[in-house]
Amino acid sequence: VVAKPISGKEAKDKLNGAGVAKEEDFSEWYTNVITRAEMVDYYDVSGCYILRPWSYSIWEQIQGFFDGEIKKLGVQNAYFPLFVSEKALATEEDHIEGFAPEVAWVTKSGQSELSEPIAIRPTSETIMYPAYANWIRSHRDLPLKLNQWVNVVRWEFKRPVPFLRSREFLWQEGHTVYATKEEADKEVFNILRLYKRVYEDLLAVPVVEGIKSEKEKFAGGLYTSTIEGFIPSNGRAIQAATSHALGQNFSKMFNIEFENTDGKKALAWQNSWGLTTRSIGVMVMVHGDDNGLVLPPRIAPIQVVILPFYFKDTSSEEIDNKAAEVLALLQAAGIRAQVDNRTGYSPRDKHVHWELKGVPIRIEIGPKDLVNKVVVFCRRDVPGKEGKFSVPEEGLALKTKAVLDEIQANLLARATKTRNDNVSVITKWEEFIPELDKKHIVLAPWCEAPACEENIKKVSNEESLKNAKNKAESEKGFCLTGAAKSLCIPLNVEDVDKKVPALTGETQCFGCGCESKATKWTLFGRSY
Ligand code: AMP
Repeated sequence: VVAKPISGKEAKDKLNGAGVAKEEDFSEWYTNVITRAEMVDYYDVSGCYILRPWSYSIWEQIQGFFDGEIKKLGVQNAYFPLFVSEKALATEEDHIEGFAPEVAWVTKSGQSELSEPIAIRPTSETIMYPAYANWIRSHRDLPLKLNQWVNVVRWEFKRPVPFLRSREFLWQEGHTVYATKEEADKEVFNILRLYKRVYEDLLAVPVVEGIKSEKEKFAGGLYTSTIEGFIPSNGRAIQAATSHALGQNFSKMFNIEFENTDGKKALAWQNSWGLTTRSIGVMVMVHGDDNGLVLPPRIAPIQVVILPFYFKDTSSEEIDNKAAEVLALLQAAGIRAQVDNRTGYSPRDKHVHWELKGVPIRIEIGPKDLVNKVVVFCRRDVPGKEGKFSVPEEGLALKTKAVLDEIQANLLARATKTRNDNVSVITKWEEFIPELDKKHIVLAPWCEAPACEENIKKVSNEESLKNAKNKAESEKGFCLTGAAKSLCIPLNVEDVDKKVPALTGETQCFGCGCESKATKWTLFGRSY
């Protein structure tokens, strides 16, 4: 169901721009917000969405930052084809096994069957690496560092959620080749740190850096490093981006060999890493409120909207001139600003509209403000009277920049506190489901065995199903499934502001019925 845009009056009647309170029905809230704020529109192929300018321009901000940073690391952009032959796709056994259920195939052209079906890339390891094998001969050809900004298709069978889980999505995929494991390892974490900066510095969303369990790692890879986000409204974690060490598995299968400095043949060490449009959805879910989107200034398509308010007995020209003057001033300072002087909309309509779209600062200019040589700021992150204050015209651009910085910092601090408050430290299985049911994720001592993780997933699902409250929520679309899994082994437990004792080999694994000793403090949770 596509939500319709609403007028200021309707919003007032419903008490909020999102049409439903975030905590009342999170799923409906999300759908309303992203459609009413004109971020996405629905499409007649299930799981595919139209990204409208309001969300695409956020993607462009992310691209601008990340592209600049990887170029500093010597990565170059390239483009490889969308299609992959069955033979190439199946070259690495674990890889194809991991992706097979989600691969979309082209089997016909017009009315005729293709002699061999071709797949649409779910990721491009198998497309790029045959070419890499041709290009790499000697240690002098290394490192090779390529990236592409493209779309991929994964025919997901889980319920699609715009941005978070779509069947076609936009991403960047980096594919690099090194002579040594040390160099490759170093890059894995350099990229992970950049991903963390995209989330924390741009989107103001806190993430935990960590390593995936054997069961959750990238199919065919050596190990997967990840950043994990958290959605407080439903207590679900989300894999925010991943940087994979592929080891030599792919170089073995694709013959990516080089002559090393001793004149001997050696297999190359490879990495691949990806960040997708999922990031936009996570940001919406974390910051949005009952009035709609709340955009962090660094990625907001418009950072400041100027609203001239006219009164009957005042010439609107004077106010329009002032608005234009303020606009020029802000734009000259590099601030993304716009004037909304549309006629036929009440001040209330405009207020609701820009609030819904999440613009960080609204600047109101009325006849009284002209006389007093001030403008009125309304901060989107602090609704109501508290976020509304007068600012003198003098030094306006500097003040605006300072407030934008304050909003950016406030959003991250607020989200970080909420996330940390929602992490529980546990040591026994009996504590697990009760903590998850508080919409928390947990940090627990774990043995890292795949069979134990399998069991945790199974038993947590069974126990959750028994829980009537959860069941009611899942019917409302809150909980997609009750099963919990490992999210990551955090690189720093301090990331979630928790102190835990070191594991000395004596601590029992928390897993249901598990007899083994714990080896790592691990984050577990229900996840998207
Ligand atoms: P992968 O190469 O499989 O590790 O995927 C890279 C990243 O893509 C993951 O870390 C997720 O954040 C994201 N991702 C995976 N599946 C989807 C999807 N269906 N829609 C949007 N983003 C996705």
